[in-house]
Amino acid sequence: MSDTGRRVAIVGSGPSGFYAAEALLKDDRNLQVDIIDRLPTPFGLVRGGVAPDHQKIKNVIRVYERTAGNERCSFIGNVMVGRDVSVADLQRFYDAVVFTCGAETDRTLAIPGIDLPGSHTATAFVGWYNGHPDYRDLSFDLSGETAVVIGQGNVAVDVTRVLAKTVDELAGTDIAAHALEALAESKVREVHMVGRRGPVQAAFTSKEIRELGELGDCALHFNDQADFDLGPACRAELDDAGNTDAQRNWKALGELREAGPASGCSKRIVVHFFRSPKELAGDGRVQRLTLEKNRLAGDAGDQWAEGTGETVEMPCGLFFRSVGYRGVPIEGLPFDDRRGVFPNQGGRITGGGAALPGLYAAGWIKRGPSGVIGTNKPDSTETARNLLADLEGLAACAVPDTGALLAQLRDRGARPVSYEDWRAIDAAEVARGAAAGKPREKFTRVEEMLAVLD
Ligand SMILES: Cc1cc2nc3c(=O)[nH]c(=O)nc-3n(C[C@H](O)[C@H](O)[C@H](O)COP(=O)(O)OP(=O)(O)OC[C@H]3O[C@@H](n4cnc5c(N)ncnc54)[C@H](O)[C@@H]3O)c2cc1C
Repeated sequence: MSDTGRRVAIVGSGPSGFYAAEALLKDDRNLQVDIIDRLPTPFGLVRGGVAPDHQKIKNVIRVYERTAGNERCSFIGNVMVGRDVSVADLQRFYDAVVFTCGAETDRTLAIPGIDLPGSHTATAFVGWYNGHPDYRDLSFDLSGETAVVIGQGNVAVDVTRVLAKTVDELAGTDIAAHALEALAESKVREVHMVGRRGPVQAAFTSKEIRELGELGDCALHFNDQADFDLGPACRAELDDAGNTDAQRNWKALGELREAGPASGCSKRIVVHFFRSPKELAGDGRVQRLTLEKNRLAGDAGDQWAEGTGETVEMPCGLFFRSVGYRGVPIEGLPFDDRRGVFPNQGGRITGGGAALPGLYAAGWIKRGPSGVIGTNKPDSTETARNLLADLEGLAACAVPDTGALLAQLRDRGARPVSYEDWRAIDAAEVARGAAAGKPREKFTRVEEMLAVLD
C-alpha cells in the first residue's frame, strides 16, 4: 500500500519510544513517525540511567540509530510536551500520539528525617553521575565514611558499586567529569545496601550482585549469615521451577559467601537483608540511621516484610533511597495516581474506562517501572499493534505537517533539535571524550549542547 499520509507522534525517545517507532514504521501504510523528547539528546535512560561502567549495554543504541535513520522518522529534541506544546496541540498535527515518557520521578519514603541534607534519591545521584541536565548542579557530600543505599534492585546495586569503585575503575567510562572529580575526593569507605525482604526475594539480578564481589579495592560482606537460613515459605519459593531469577541469585550469593570478603581492601560493601529504615537523624544533616529488623509474613510467592520492633542504629553520612520510580502526569491526560502511570488497556490510554481515540502509551509510563531495556520491545510492539488496528477509524489530524509544528514551536521560543543536530552534539562529545580517554565526555547543560549547533 502506498503512502497514506497518516502521522504518529511519539513522546519520549527512550527504548520504548524507539521500539514503538520501529514497529510503526514497518507497517505498509508508510506512516510518518516523529519522536519528540524534552532533551536535545535521545535514548532516555540508556544515556541517563544505565551505569557508566556498563558501556556494552549502551550498544543497543545502534538499533535505535537504524530506526532514526528511516526517512519517514524524525527526531524533535529539546521540546517538552506539557510545556512547549500541549497534548491538544499535538493532536492537531498528528493522527495518533504515543506517550513513552518513562517514569521520571520517585516513590516517597515517609520516615522521620527523610528531608535532612545528606538524604537523596538514587535517581538524583544516577542523574548526576550520568550528566543529566536536571541533576547537573546537585552536590553530594562524600566527606563521611558511611553511605547507606535503601533498596535491592539493580539501580541500588549500581549506586552501591559506583560509590565503592576506585577512580581508576570509573575513569575510562562516560561518567560525567564533575562526578568523577567529586568521587576522586570521596571519603566513603563503607556502603551498606539494605533490603526489607530476604535473599530469595531480592530484585537485583545475579550478574549485578556478582559484580559487587569483583571490585578492585572493595570487600563484599553480608551483614548476617542467619539471613540465609530459609524458612519453609522461602524454600518453596526457591524450589518453584519458574523462579529462575531467584535461583540464579541464590547460586551467586552462595558463591560470593563461600569466596568470602576479599582481603586488603580499603573499602567494604555490606549487604543487609530483612531490614527497613525507620528514622534518619542528625544535627542539621544526616548522621544516624535507625533500621528495624523484619520478618516475612504471608504465603510462598506473596510474602511481605513485617517489622519485629527490634531496631539498630548505625552511623550514616549519606543516604540514598532506591525504592521505585513513578511516572509524571502531563496536562490533558488521565493519570493513575496510585500506580504512577497513564491508565491504559493494551497501550490504549483510557479515561473513565473507555479508550481515548488517538492516545496511546508504551514502556514505563504504560506498565510501571519494571523490566530491563529489552522488556520494552514486546510492550511497545503491543501498543503499536493496537494503534495500527485502530488507524483506519482515527480521524485525520487538521494540520498534517511537521514543518508547521516546528514553526509553531519556534514562534513560542522553543529551539527544536533535529537528529542531524544530535549527531553534531554526539560527535563533539565523542571528540571531547577521546582527549580524556573516555568513550565520550557528555555535555551536561542544555546550553552547552545548543552551543555546539550555533
Ligand atoms: C538508573 C537505571 C539504570 C538502568 N540500567 C539498566 C541496565 O543496565 N540494563 C537494562 O536493560 N535496563 C536498565 N534500566 C531499565 C531501562 O532503562 C528501562 O527499562 C527503560 O529505559 C524504560 O524505557 P522508557 O522508554 O519507557 O523510558 P525512558 O528510558 O525513561 O525514556 C523516557 C524519555 O521520555 C522523555 N520525556 C519525559 N517526559 C517528557 C515530556 N513531557 N516531553 C517530551 N519528552 C519527555 C525523557 O527525556 C526520556 O528520554 C535502568 C533503569 C534505571 C532507572
